[in-house]
Amino acid sequence: MRVLVVEDEQKVANALREGLEGERYDVVVERTGEDAFFRMTTEAFDLILLDLGLPGRDGLHILTTLRGKGIKTAVLVLTARDTLQDRVAGLDSGADDYLVKPFAFAELLARIRALMRRGRAAESPRLAVGDLSMDLITRKVARGGQPVELTVREFELLEYLMRYEGQVVSRETLARDVWKETARTTPLDNVIDVHIARLRRKVDLDRSMKLIHTVRGVGFLLREGEP
Ligand code: CA
Repeated sequence: MRVLVVEDEQKVANALREGLEGERYDVVVERTGEDAFFRMTTEAFDLILLDLGLPGRDGLHILTTLRGKGIKTAVLVLTARDTLQDRVAGLDSGADDYLVKPFAFAELLARIRALMRRGRAAESPRLAVGDLSMDLITRKVARGGQPVELTVREFELLEYLMRYEGQVVSRETLARDVWKETARTTPLDNVIDVHIARLRRKVDLDRSMKLIHTVRGVGFLLREGEP
C-alpha cells in the first residue's frame, strides 16, 4: 500500500515515515503544499496523510482542489488545530478522517486500517469510466455496450488503470502492482508498452473518445477527455 505523507515538520515526517515503513507501507514524504499537490495529482496513492498547516499552499486548500479534480484517494487529515470549526472544515473539504496532534501512533495505524476497510467495503464489483465498464465478478468488459475480449494480463492492467482513473500511473508502478515484479535487472518497459498498445487497440480503436492516454516521460492514465 502506497502512502503519501504531507508534513512540513521534519521530526514528525521522519517519525511517520519510519513507523509506516515498519508496518510495510510504501511511503513518500512531501514537505510543502506545492510539492505535495504535484505529487498527488501525478502519481497514484492509496492514502494521503495530510497536515493542514503547511508552508505555501494550505492543506485545506489542497484538499478542496484535489476533490474538485475528481481525485478520490482516501485522505486522513493530521493537524494541531483541534477546534470544532477546523474539524468541520476538514471533513467538508473532503477528508475521510481526522486526527488531532499529538496522537498515539497506534491510533493512527488503527484509523488507517479502518479507512482501508471502509474503502474495500464501499468498493463496487463494477468499475466504469465513461462508456467503458468492467464487472469484477464476471470479469466482463464492455465499451459502449459492446463486449471487449481481454487476456488475463490485459484485464488486470485495465482494472488498475480504471481504479486509478484520472491519475498518472508510471511503468514502474505497473511493474510492481500489476506484474508483481520488483527485483528484475531489466525493466519491464517494453512488455508494458506492448500490453498498453494492445489494450488501446481493443478499448479505443475507432472511438472518437480515447480513454487511455500516454503522459510522455511519466506513464499512462485513463480518463475521459484529454489529460
Ligand atoms: Ca505543519
